[in-house]
Amino acid sequence: MERKRQKSKKVASNLSRRNFVRLSTLGAASTLLPINLSAVVNIREPLQIGLIADVHKDIMHDADERLQEFLGEVNKRNLDFIIQMGDFCIPHQRNKDFLEIWNNHQGDKYHILGNHDTDGGFTKDQARAFWNMTANYYSFDKKGVHFIVLDGNDANPKPWSGYNRYIGKEQREWLKEDLKNTDKPTIVFSHQTLELEEGGITNLKDVQKILESANKEAGFQKVLVCLSGHHHTDFLTQINGIYYVQINSASYRWVGDDYKKLRYSKEIDEKFEWIKYTIPYKDPLFTFMKIEEHGITIEPRKTEFVGPGPKALNMRKSHPHDPIVPMISKFEMKI
Ligand SMILES: [Zn+2]
Repeated sequence: MERKRQKSKKVASNLSRRNFVRLSTLGAASTLLPINLSAVVNIREPLQIGLIADVHKDIMHDADERLQEFLGEVNKRNLDFIIQMGDFCIPHQRNKDFLEIWNNHQGDKYHILGNHDTDGGFTKDQARAFWNMTANYYSFDKKGVHFIVLDGNDANPKPWSGYNRYIGKEQREWLKEDLKNTDKPTIVFSHQTLELEEGGITNLKDVQKILESANKEAGFQKVLVCLSGHHHTDFLTQINGIYYVQINSASYRWVGDDYKKLRYSKEIDEKFEWIKYTIPYKDPLFTFMKIEEHGITIEPRKTEFVGPGPKALNMRKSHPHDPIVPMISKFEMKI
């Protein structure tokens, strides 16, 4: 009995010594780090980011109030930046006041181009000029983390009908170079998802390959997570080590002609003719993302539908990949 106990004690002390040796090498030679640990080491200072997606000023009568509520919450926090994830507002004079609300926010703020931001025949250049956005796609660093914003509205190869949802060759080459030139843990934003072909970026496999190759070449998990809006749903998945999160809309879920319903006054309906094709969310949805040493967390937020929801409308049960829900889940991603 006694001997046995001694033996196991020895094994334990050997193990802890081995752990100690491994840990002490981490600081000395960071280039030799095994997968996953390097990114963990690089995030020394936690970051907090405000996210709002698909406000749709041109559909919602109360988009201004929704944006104001988001910024009110933003002002209570000490954030590193905020980002609107597309389908914000078209570059029309009538949207000046709405944009002013955003522009009046003093902290760092970024835009993502959505497919509806050029509705009514506007160009991407016009939308960018209106928002004071300098490039369709770009990247920046904050506290040792690299952020990439993609433009998912490049022209799809012909024949194609409907809204563009594509990352063109030039942008893909730029993405490869941009990833090559950073050794920081990286977070990617796009309006349309990079993980579901239905409604998402049609050549998402090409883009995933670029991200995965960058991780392989780096020898550590460089690209941690990709975030998108556009689909007005609440979803998290992981593909080959990279997390993909869909951030729900601030305003509503589109349900179309089959389920259209008047939910506001006649006056509102006359002025905002598209609301009846949606199930609006009572309060605006938005979220705050925390990036810390061991993980990334999306803060939950929940509201309710205005009027009948999908169940009361007898809609087919929504796909688990595409739930119709008035909420943003608490998503926790280990890194
Ligand atoms: Zn969209």
